[in-house]
Amino acid sequence: MTSDLKELYQELILDHSKSPRNFHALKGTHRKAEGYNPLCGDRITVYLQLDGGVIKDIGFEGSGCAISKASSSMMTVSLKGKTAAEARDFFENFHSMLTERDKSFDKEKLGKLTVFQGVSEFPVRVKCATLAWHTLRAALESDGQTVSTE
Ligand code: ZN
Repeated sequence: MTSDLKELYQELILDHSKSPRNFHALKGTHRKAEGYNPLCGDRITVYLQLDGGVIKDIGFEGSGCAISKASSSMMTVSLKGKTAAEARDFFENFHSMLTERDKSFDKEKLGKLTVFQGVSEFPVRVKCATLAWHTLRAALESDGQTVSTE
């Protein structure tokens, strides 16, 4: 990766952590799940509004480090309008990118989310980046669960 590209990626993460998108609870009927990363102290609540298997709306609230916030923010942007099945597929790819050595993931599918690829070099930060996704999966599976990355 060129240093220019690296800088651009860092800017993207910085931008999303400073002004997170979809940073709010959802009104009306929705699913939600809470996630906690005790290693860093990141806490997040993910809200989902599903309609016929499609994510009509998605939001999050919480507090944490720049990586966890940026990851949550970019996740909501990527998943709005997608189906629950597609969201699970995103999860699998994102998780593979950060945790698997051979990194067999779909770069094209992840798009901008590949900015987090560098995080895989920092195992402690991987939990920060994947927290939102684990929480999302919990929200997809059932309602009102608390997930921990431990
Ligand atoms: Zn963190």
